[in-house]
Amino acid sequence: MGESILLTPVDLVKYPFLPEAKKYVAELGIDLNDLGELESIVDRAKVRIAATFEFLAHMQNQAPYKKSEVEIAAFPVAAFVVAGVKDKTLAERYALSEAKKIYNYLLDEKDNVILGIAKFFEWDINPSKQGPFSYTLHFVYYLRNATKGRLVHSPEWKLVNRQLDKGQVSVTKNEVCRLLQEEIKNYIEDRTKEEVTKIPQLLQDVIEEIKAEFLKRKPHLSEFDQKIQAEESEYPPCIMDFLDRTAKGQHLSHAERFTLVTYLLHQGIGVDRIVNLFSNVADFREDKTRYQVEHLAGQRGSRTPYRTYNCSTLQTHGVCVNPNDPVCKRIRNPLTYHLRKKSIKKRE
Ligand code: SF4
Repeated sequence: MGESILLTPVDLVKYPFLPEAKKYVAELGIDLNDLGELESIVDRAKVRIAATFEFLAHMQNQAPYKKSEVEIAAFPVAAFVVAGVKDKTLAERYALSEAKKIYNYLLDEKDNVILGIAKFFEWDINPSKQGPFSYTLHFVYYLRNATKGRLVHSPEWKLVNRQLDKGQVSVTKNEVCRLLQEEIKNYIEDRTKEEVTKIPQLLQDVIEEIKAEFLKRKPHLSEFDQKIQAEESEYPPCIMDFLDRTAKGQHLSHAERFTLVTYLLHQGIGVDRIVNLFSNVADFREDKTRYQVEHLAGQRGSRTPYRTYNCSTLQTHGVCVNPNDPVCKRIRNPLTYHLRKKSIKKRE
């Protein structure tokens, strides 16, 4: 792997797969047989894994733990536990869940961190200033990731539809982050497939617990997968409209803001990213917005995430932008728009 970048413990909480995080954990000298020391780390590791299959709903506060060292150490412990369960589906889901979280962090990063992480994966990438494109990336690294996961089904990721010059593909910042998500997912997945030996008793118990809970839920997981995943291009008309107006700094009503935030949270978009979306709005106050988003995410107050309003409620509030959209006519809630669209496409 490539060169390292200068990262603080706060950065390592966001990017715990990097070698700097491994070194940081090694220097902590954690004794894997010392229950007292391990307890909070193991708890956080369980939360990380639980987020992938709706286990421990009461513990699913994804905001990082207040002690950086606990959060950073929880990542290798979680990977170790997933490896110990020896289930390909769990390994894939865990890697995807971690990679999606990292994608949301990357979107808010400056060039040096994005380039540093890309270089860690030995990408041939350079900053660029051509219109909307912030980087050029050698097509080998582009293809390595654009032909994986959900990207392979989207025409906009096909190389023939891209601007290519001397082997370099022009990409936006969002696209680089999305490609890195695929790279990181595969990297983490490989780690969770490593053979684990000499398992301390405490972790053996956790492996057994996670395995039993996961196998109970495994048969119903494809339904859950569908529920949580929509690419931005698949968002319903109302959400596209709210996003567009927010980017332009226009005012959204309470019902519109509530719908936008709860929808994005359900799609796995992180609190930081959502807060930043509102930064162009005239009366933006980061602390106030963060408080409200965390509240809707269930990280405050009742600790229950809020559900997106149904289309009928949005129509009553006068904020439904296109009830005559052929897909909208056949759904009850914006959250199911992409699923219905897919099933209509399949039948056609
Ligand atoms: S019908 Fe529902 S999903 Fe479609 S635009 Fe209206 S509120 Fe949004």
